[in-house]
Amino acid sequence: MNTPEIDRIFELSHQGEPWVAVRECGWVEGGSLRLPLLGLHIGSTDPSAPTLGLFGGVHGLEQVGSHVVLSALEAIVARLKWDRELQRQLERARIVSMPVINPIGFALRTRSNANGVDLMRNAPVDAEGAVTPLVGGQRIGSWLPWYRGPEGAPMQAESQAFMDFVESEMFSSSFSIALDVHSGFGTNDRLWYPYARQRGGYEREAECLRMAERLREFEPHHVYIVEPQAKQYTTHGDLWDFAFLQHRSKYGDSGSLFLPWTLEIGSWLWVKKNPVQLFSKLGAFNPVKPHRHARAMRRHGRLIEFMWALLLSGPQTVCSGKG
Ligand SMILES: [Zn+2]
Repeated sequence: MNTPEIDRIFELSHQGEPWVAVRECGWVEGGSLRLPLLGLHIGSTDPSAPTLGLFGGVHGLEQVGSHVVLSALEAIVARLKWDRELQRQLERARIVSMPVINPIGFALRTRSNANGVDLMRNAPVDAEGAVTPLVGGQRIGSWLPWYRGPEGAPMQAESQAFMDFVESEMFSSSFSIALDVHSGFGTNDRLWYPYARQRGGYEREAECLRMAERLREFEPHHVYIVEPQAKQYTTHGDLWDFAFLQHRSKYGDSGSLFLPWTLEIGSWLWVKKNPVQLFSKLGAFNPVKPHRHARAMRRHGRLIEFMWALLLSGPQTVCSGKG
């Protein structure tokens, strides 16, 4: 058994030769399934090159997130055949991606991985003070959602592969932006910057707010609510908090700017317009009607274009004073 999304990743590498390289980051098993953890690399191999990271499928139920990432990558790869300007851009910058971080959850249609662990609560980061009960991450047991995994245990294979990929593909970049696409929270599309673990105190908040200004200039009619994740709820074990802290401990304020973002696509509107979809397992998290699915693909392509344009223009676009 396979998932169509994994086939789409292999197809991307096939279609995108010689620009696209697929990297096997590990294998995971669950029940009778054994599936690869796959990463993609498009463009410059210079470690310091500006880098856009696109991620999806941390939560197996939120399939629209993977589809947004795969659609964007497919359009890029198709354009690469004739778009000389994009080819030139990719000689000095790169796009890296893990479109399906939790393939077993994807195939089995569960939020968590095969061990019942919520990967986005699995990093070794504790929130400051009390978190939102349950949703903030719990160690009561894997039979409840938002399970962090056993106390003191190493990270799950998927979380570790994700961290290794982000570190090797993004950390040494002079300027990197990550976008991790989720769905399910509320009726609006939200762009979240760290931290999930605490309210306030994010060292790159000024850069994120400038990025929000640039987004408004790029697309005055954009739909996003831009805010720190902790404004909605705080959690333990957020992978992006952990990645940011790891990057910071290694690079500090020296010339490497790493800005992780989460796109949380509001799915409640789809449910409101089509309540019947609540009765399907994926329905609370994904647009079921084809025209709504297509709209979700279109809507966020523009955001990815923006992030790419910003990266190519350099970190001074979001930094005050020197770049
Ligand atoms: Zn999610």
